Amino acid sequence: MFKKSLILGFGAMVLGFTGFAQDADDEYKLLFIGIDGVRSDALQQQMNNGNAPNLKEMFDTGLFTFDSWHLGVTSSGPSWSDMLTGVWENKHGVTSNNYTGSDYGTYPYFPTRVKECRPNAKAVQVTSWQPMSTNVYNDGWDNKIVPPTDDACAQVAVAQLQDVELDILFVHIDDVDAAGHGNGFNPSVPAYMNAISYADGLVGQIINALESRPNYANEKWVILATTDHGGTGTGHGGNSDDERHIWWVATGYNVPQTEITGVDPGSYQFGTPPTDAVVAQVPVLTDIAVTALDHCLPDNTCIENNQAAWDLDGKSWLEEDNNVYVESYTLQNEFGIYPNPNGGVFDIVVDIETDETFTVVITDITGTVVFQSTLDNHGTYSKKKMDISQYASGAYMLTLTGQNSAVTKKIVKN
Ligand SMILES: [Zn+2]
Repeated sequence: MFKKSLILGFGAMVLGFTGFAQDADDEYKLLFIGIDGVRSDALQQQMNNGNAPNLKEMFDTGLFTFDSWHLGVTSSGPSWSDMLTGVWENKHGVTSNNYTGSDYGTYPYFPTRVKECRPNAKAVQVTSWQPMSTNVYNDGWDNKIVPPTDDACAQVAVAQLQDVELDILFVHIDDVDAAGHGNGFNPSVPAYMNAISYADGLVGQIINALESRPNYANEKWVILATTDHGGTGTGHGGNSDDERHIWWVATGYNVPQTEITGVDPGSYQFGTPPTDAVVAQVPVLTDIAVTALDHCLPDNTCIENNQAAWDLDGKSWLEEDNNVYVESYTLQNEFGIYPNPNGGVFDIVVDIETDETFTVVITDITGTVVFQSTLDNHGTYSKKKMDISQYASGAYMLTLTGQNSAVTKKIVKN
């Protein structure tokens, strides 16, 4: 599972031939569920309390993060544009919900890019939020449906999923954001929490419809779910942690089962987007479109030929057969902490073909170093026992640094 060919530059997208010629492109399909305005802490609380079982199942079985930090304007227009184009605001040009300044001509939604390589791909958007339908162009959707309510969006999505030809479906659920504006974006606000729970029920309906497709077993689906921003008080748009701290999750074909944690890279102004190096270890909004493209385009050649022209900022988190890959993520996916959570004694495991010595640094949540060590990896696999049992219970961050890459993961000590 962990065999990978050599990897190139840090922060650069890397292409490798992986031989999928026998598979038809149209088996590769994507369901993207966007839920507007769901804070990470609120979602975690609802999942822990059994009030969001459908999303919880995705988190339990897939690739997920509660540590995606919004880097730009925490409004829906810019945020969904980051996620659907794979580039930052300085490129797609959207900095508000009136969408003025957009340049989707140069930086289109990812379905447009998919169709450059898969002209017959069929893509549909379903949202009750009219601005995302009206103000966006060059988006690649064959059909943009604007039902009146979230319930109707779910029904339309279920109906669309009966279509055997469908390849990409984006469904946007809006009412969590409305509940936040009406009552407060906060885990202590019942109306907000109930809206999250309700949205989770719609997610369940949509996923049930997906899994009921007659040819489901032979299709290679990835399901992505995420949010565009959090909120504070009854609003959002600023750069407080409660507005910026968001989550996303992916399940399905070739999606590794792992948690991604990341250190906040900070908020950025329009025109000064983060460098690749700054976000190389951090799950960010632009990664969504690139992960989607990686999955939808199993043929490397087309991505390779268009890499410069597309000028994407995000990175893919998919494993093994990826066409688009960032070096550091090899380590991200192949470095594990077991068990986690733990009582302070745990193994770190590196499952990667290298000959190098990694440094291991564990910090507490204030950034104070509590433990330092090294891990020699000569060959394909190495394991080392760590012991921080003398320290207080709580969250710690473990950073593993190798010759060309570094990765940080969270440890929870009970
Ligand atoms: Zn809003």
